Amino acid sequence: MVAIAVISFSCASCRNVSKSSGSDSTAIASPTGPAFDADSAYSFTAAQCNFGPRTMNSEAHEKCGEWIIGKFRSYGLTVTTQKADLKGYDGTILKSTNIIASYNPDASTRILICAHWDSRPWADNDPDSLNHKTPVMAANDGASGVAVMLELARLVSKDSTLSIGVDFVCFDAEDWGVPTWEENIEDSEGSWALGSKHFADNLPEGYEARYGILLDMVGGEGAKFYREGLSSQFARTIVDKVWSAAKAAGYGSYFPDDEGGYVTDDHVPLNKTANIPTIDIIPYYPQCPQSSFGMTWHTTDDTMEHIDRNTLKAVGQTLIQIIYTE
Ligand SMILES: [Zn+2]
Repeated sequence: MVAIAVISFSCASCRNVSKSSGSDSTAIASPTGPAFDADSAYSFTAAQCNFGPRTMNSEAHEKCGEWIIGKFRSYGLTVTTQKADLKGYDGTILKSTNIIASYNPDASTRILICAHWDSRPWADNDPDSLNHKTPVMAANDGASGVAVMLELARLVSKDSTLSIGVDFVCFDAEDWGVPTWEENIEDSEGSWALGSKHFADNLPEGYEARYGILLDMVGGEGAKFYREGLSSQFARTIVDKVWSAAKAAGYGSYFPDDEGGYVTDDHVPLNKTANIPTIDIIPYYPQCPQSSFGMTWHTTDDTMEHIDRNTLKAVGQTLIQIIYTE
């Protein structure tokens, strides 16, 4: 994903909206649902990293994809894949696989939870320019979101009381966006989030979801999840719902009520093309000199050493709260 610049007028107008319509109707509820196991989510993150960087068209990517599918199936979910040859900004054909794992596949009321599973092939934000063409391990920027989804799937699979359906969608080809050393690429924003674009253009027949929640970099140390700008523009009520759920689950300190940046990410095609109101849970580091996405973003340091179980827990327990109160 990539941060996008927005003229100050729209930031100001969003802030006004958030102040005026606030959270009047959101009574703080109590924690609901099973305990999210952060150790389990941590081990699912490590398991993906053990394949190596899951860059497009690599063997590690293929093997990890099979592992993800096998894990969801082992929890009794119905798994389908959406394969496509997508074209990178540089003309490379990317062998892309979206993985769709459905819990309660026959339920008519559904929510969508998603994350990307590919690794960025270039650590082009690394402080050492010698690392710029080294693949990113993507412990946080990839594996963490899938790991949280796998742990949610494991927990809901043990529960027969839930009546809603949940679709866990792992998007491919998110992180082949134009690297910093390239110049004169026209539609650089359009080079990101190719798998989710393909999903939104080719929704499974009759597919409907009440709303969607995108998880991106949900395991980093020191992460705080501010309200991402495009999420507030497209799906304000879902942002309110998730931030209230975080408070109810006891993790409100990880979800400040302030506005973060504006991010081009997998939620954009879901909102714009699929008409599924979808928000992005993505960290924002206002003080970080390296990047507003944090020190490890698109660097060779995006490794397990910088994954924090507490962050995984805060996000995972918030999602449990959402699933069990929907
Ligand atoms: Zn990325």
